[in-house]
Amino acid sequence: MSYQVLARKYRPSSFSEVVGQEHVLKALENSISQNKLHQAYIFSGTRGVGKTTIARVFSKCLNCMQADSPQVIPCNKCSACEEIKIGRHMEFLEVDAASRTGVDDMRELLDSVQYKPANARFKIYLIDEVHMLSKSSFNALLKTLEEPPPHVMFLMATTEVEKVPKTVLSRCLQLNLKVIPEAKIQLHLKSLLDLESIEYDEESIALIADSAQGSVRDGLTLLDQAIAHGNGSLNTEDVKALLGTIDQSYIIELVEQVVAGNGDGAYNALHKITELNVEYEQVLKILISVFHKISLHQQLHNNESESIQRLADNLDPQITQLHYEIALNSLGKFHVHPHPKQALELCILRMLAFQPMGEAVTPREEKKNLKISSSA
Ligand SMILES: [Zn+2]
Repeated sequence: MSYQVLARKYRPSSFSEVVGQEHVLKALENSISQNKLHQAYIFSGTRGVGKTTIARVFSKCLNCMQADSPQVIPCNKCSACEEIKIGRHMEFLEVDAASRTGVDDMRELLDSVQYKPANARFKIYLIDEVHMLSKSSFNALLKTLEEPPPHVMFLMATTEVEKVPKTVLSRCLQLNLKVIPEAKIQLHLKSLLDLESIEYDEESIALIADSAQGSVRDGLTLLDQAIAHGNGSLNTEDVKALLGTIDQSYIIELVEQVVAGNGDGAYNALHKITELNVEYEQVLKILISVFHKISLHQQLHNNESESIQRLADNLDPQITQLHYEIALNSLGKFHVHPHPKQALELCILRMLAFQPMGEAVTPREEKKNLKISSSA
């Protein structure tokens, strides 16, 4: 059986197939149906949330030749739709600004602006990672944006919209894409697996959607890897191995020992975790997420896990915040530690050092005494 990568096979061919971003799609659909097209659009948002995907679908809407005006739903059959899909349309120029930052590249590109498109409604420029353009490139672009010929359409995408000059932004309709909620990613992954008749379990899907961190593309890439890993099917153990995740119960045990102020217990729990050959950075991330869940539950009583509920009841909310900060701080400094394991150990030791109820006083007093005796 030949296997086609899911991300490519299920690339959205119209707006209805795009996951999330309803507010952006609505704005684009309205500009088509009400005939209020702008000449420059800028799509901003983190990686993998659908910026260029939406821009490509929009390009098909604009140039679809099935009717004599732009269409909210492209036909996906005419030569324009077909050619834009495979990136061969003569009047659809896709540029990666990251590799063509120089002003000569930009001038060369903009030279063609004045020529009317042949066999197409619009000449469309899709400039990806537009914030990478040099200052002079932006100036050249701005000149065109100030008086664009009516047949020209600029679609720009960027992960760092704050680096795009205000003068350029003010000439564009700015569309901010959001990260996709985990539940939506889960639904999407499940629907594709159903279409592919691939068996899965809920936990695998939840793990992948969590690791995707709001990006459908990352979710699909992970899903593809997991399917390859599991020889054509999905199972939790393979997915965990692939993602380098560990059972949250190990982390919960560790947190319970920390909360109890039990140093030996915490060290044993940590030892169990390190025996699993996991990535220490991943452990820190799960630790942060556990304290986040505890903290949320303390305020909102929204967690269904019994262990999180128990921890939330037993931990002072201020100490929860402190532990959260300590873990976050350890993650931030993770890469300066000569040994990753030390970063994790130090994080746990710090949490133990900041125990409530005065436990922390003793070691500090001892330290002071030690100082006095050593200086004496
Ligand atoms: Zn078409």
